[in-house]
Amino acid sequence: SVRVRFAPSPTGALHIGGVRTALYNYLFAKKSGGKFIIRIEDTDQNRYVEGAEDYILTALEWCGIRPDEGPQSGGNFGPYRQSDRKSLYKEYADRLIAEGKAYYAFDTPEDLDEMRERLKEARMANPQYNAISRNQMKNSLTMSAEEVNQKLESGEPYVIRFKMPKNDDVRFKDVVRDWVVVNTTTLDDKVLMKSDGMPTYHLANIVDDHLMEITHVIRGEEWLPSAPLHVLLYEAFGWEAPQFAHLPLLLKPDGNGKLSKRAADQLGFPIFPLNWSDPVSGELSKGFKESGYLPEACMNFLALLGWNPGTEQEMFTMDQLISEFSLERINKSGAKFDIEKAKWFNQQYLKNKSNEDLAQMLKEENNVNVDMELLSAIAGSMKERITFVSDILESGDFFFSAPTTYDEKTVNKKWTAEAVQKLAQFANEIAKLQKVSPEEAKEKFVAVLATDDTSLGKVMPALRLALTGAGGGPDLMEIISILGTAEAANRINKAIE
Ligand code: GLU
Repeated sequence: SVRVRFAPSPTGALHIGGVRTALYNYLFAKKSGGKFIIRIEDTDQNRYVEGAEDYILTALEWCGIRPDEGPQSGGNFGPYRQSDRKSLYKEYADRLIAEGKAYYAFDTPEDLDEMRERLKEARMANPQYNAISRNQMKNSLTMSAEEVNQKLESGEPYVIRFKMPKNDDVRFKDVVRDWVVVNTTTLDDKVLMKSDGMPTYHLANIVDDHLMEITHVIRGEEWLPSAPLHVLLYEAFGWEAPQFAHLPLLLKPDGNGKLSKRAADQLGFPIFPLNWSDPVSGELSKGFKESGYLPEACMNFLALLGWNPGTEQEMFTMDQLISEFSLERINKSGAKFDIEKAKWFNQQYLKNKSNEDLAQMLKEENNVNVDMELLSAIAGSMKERITFVSDILESGDFFFSAPTTYDEKTVNKKWTAEAVQKLAQFANEIAKLQKVSPEEAKEKFVAVLATDDTSLGKVMPALRLALTGAGGGPDLMEIISILGTAEAANRINKAIE
């Protein structure tokens, strides 16, 4: 049965592209009735960033992407953190050495620099270890067994390198890209075990995918160049390789290049799911969550960045995504990241929330301390016109306090003597009432206008101005109903003073 994994390296916060990779893995697992696994790939100790693992796990939880197995949930194929599996990798590297498919290399950093210099002089495009020089370097291919043993015993630092076959075509079928063929001439003798005794990404990744019985490797396109080596490693071990699906890049909004944190910063939109303060620079990057995006809107938006359902449908709940998702409908070409589309999704999801839910969010996320019934009514009147919940507070500020300024354009055009006179009458009428429904407010207003045949259009803008200070906004009669008759009358009287 299907087993897929999301295998982040805790080298920093989780980029939105990583979230999409996790999401596609998750959708595919759930659709197939399989398992979704999280594995932390932390073998590169130089790039380890404090707090990154926690961040990644918390962010996925916010997204609603819950693993069946992982460092937190456990499972039968653990441990799920590569640093906790350290002792396991050596025997696999040794196995390749014993079979002549890998070798020890004792080259010092200076030796390697010198090698690169020589290759540069010889105008080699790729300064690969195996380019012309594998047989000229300090490794177990060029040394006697005694010499090698002696070096190993004396504790001389070494790495284990994969012995890349010469001039061979590696071919594998990628679900997204179909057949991929790469000649090994372009591939290096990659390091499998480092001198610190840690495996490299390549070795640990293949060993773990095998031991964890991963059936499909779904990951970003940036890993495509590593795939031929991975295929060769599976062959070398005599293991069946999983199926590969390399996801298209996320592009900048103009389609011009990869979406990076820098590009996102420049354009002023978030790139991380949650706030992230970089432990090194101390710089705070605002997350989608803290910017006011709902997780369900983010998932819907991300799902469509690189996958298409084959229909015009745009709104998908997580369950619908699960039932519709297929690897075959992943696009080959890069997906342009359009923050306006993300906002549109957020609007749609906010619109579909109940007034009570919105009020609750305002209370919890924006610390609004207003009677919940009143807050729900305010949210209800505003929800068609907001992108973020906090817009209710900004665009609907008049609900919370009387206007202190009045939109000049409306004042100049609509604040007529006639309107003022009608407003005074209207204030007088509603002040007599305890409270009004929007319908009752409308009735009163129409009745006041009817006394001398004034049209609605001549007084309405002035009424809005008196109540809200603005030239536009949500339904006016609803505003009166929510503000209450006393407050509405006060505001009108203040405005016409
Ligand atoms: N650790 C790799 C990463 O950070 C995993 C790549 C893969 O899925 O093979 O993305």
